[in-house]
Amino acid sequence: MTIRTIITEPDKLLRQVSKPVGKVGKKEQELMTDMLETMYAANGIGLAAIQVGIPQRIIVMDISKEENKKEPRFFVNPIIKNKDPYKATYEEGCLSVPNQFAEVDRPSKCEVEYLDYNGNKQLLKAEGLLATCIQHEMDHLEGILFIDYLSKLKRSMIIKKLSKLKSSTLEV
Ligand code: ZN
Repeated sequence: MTIRTIITEPDKLLRQVSKPVGKVGKKEQELMTDMLETMYAANGIGLAAIQVGIPQRIIVMDISKEENKKEPRFFVNPIIKNKDPYKATYEEGCLSVPNQFAEVDRPSKCEVEYLDYNGNKQLLKAEGLLATCIQHEMDHLEGILFIDYLSKLKRSMIIKKLSKLKSSTLEV
């Protein structure tokens, strides 16, 4: 297991569209394990492979809040099958957009078809935080960040802040 480096905005890699996984093999499982460790270490609830620089359609998630009751979930090649027309609003954050939070509206329920850790086909019927989280992560596969849903002004303010943060860390 290796904790990988999480890429933060602004970075062109985060805007890349990820490619479907051909087969879930040992290499992909290793990546998922690393991603899960990386996500836990950063106190996140979801992580897409592109956030550690790998443009593959792989997501790990764990929305359980309790430390001793971990519920890791793995999604390979996820596809949204159904979306509820009713929207729900959550305050979202992102490990690639550190310390920035904003309310985003998304379909309140969705059905997602995907391959699990062992490469078996699964269907997830999600609602609440789970539905929001999987849609946020699936956006990463298309190169979309939650700040893209904000006004141009808000988004550019956040990007400016993050760029400043980056350049100041480089000076150290
Ligand atoms: Zn994110």
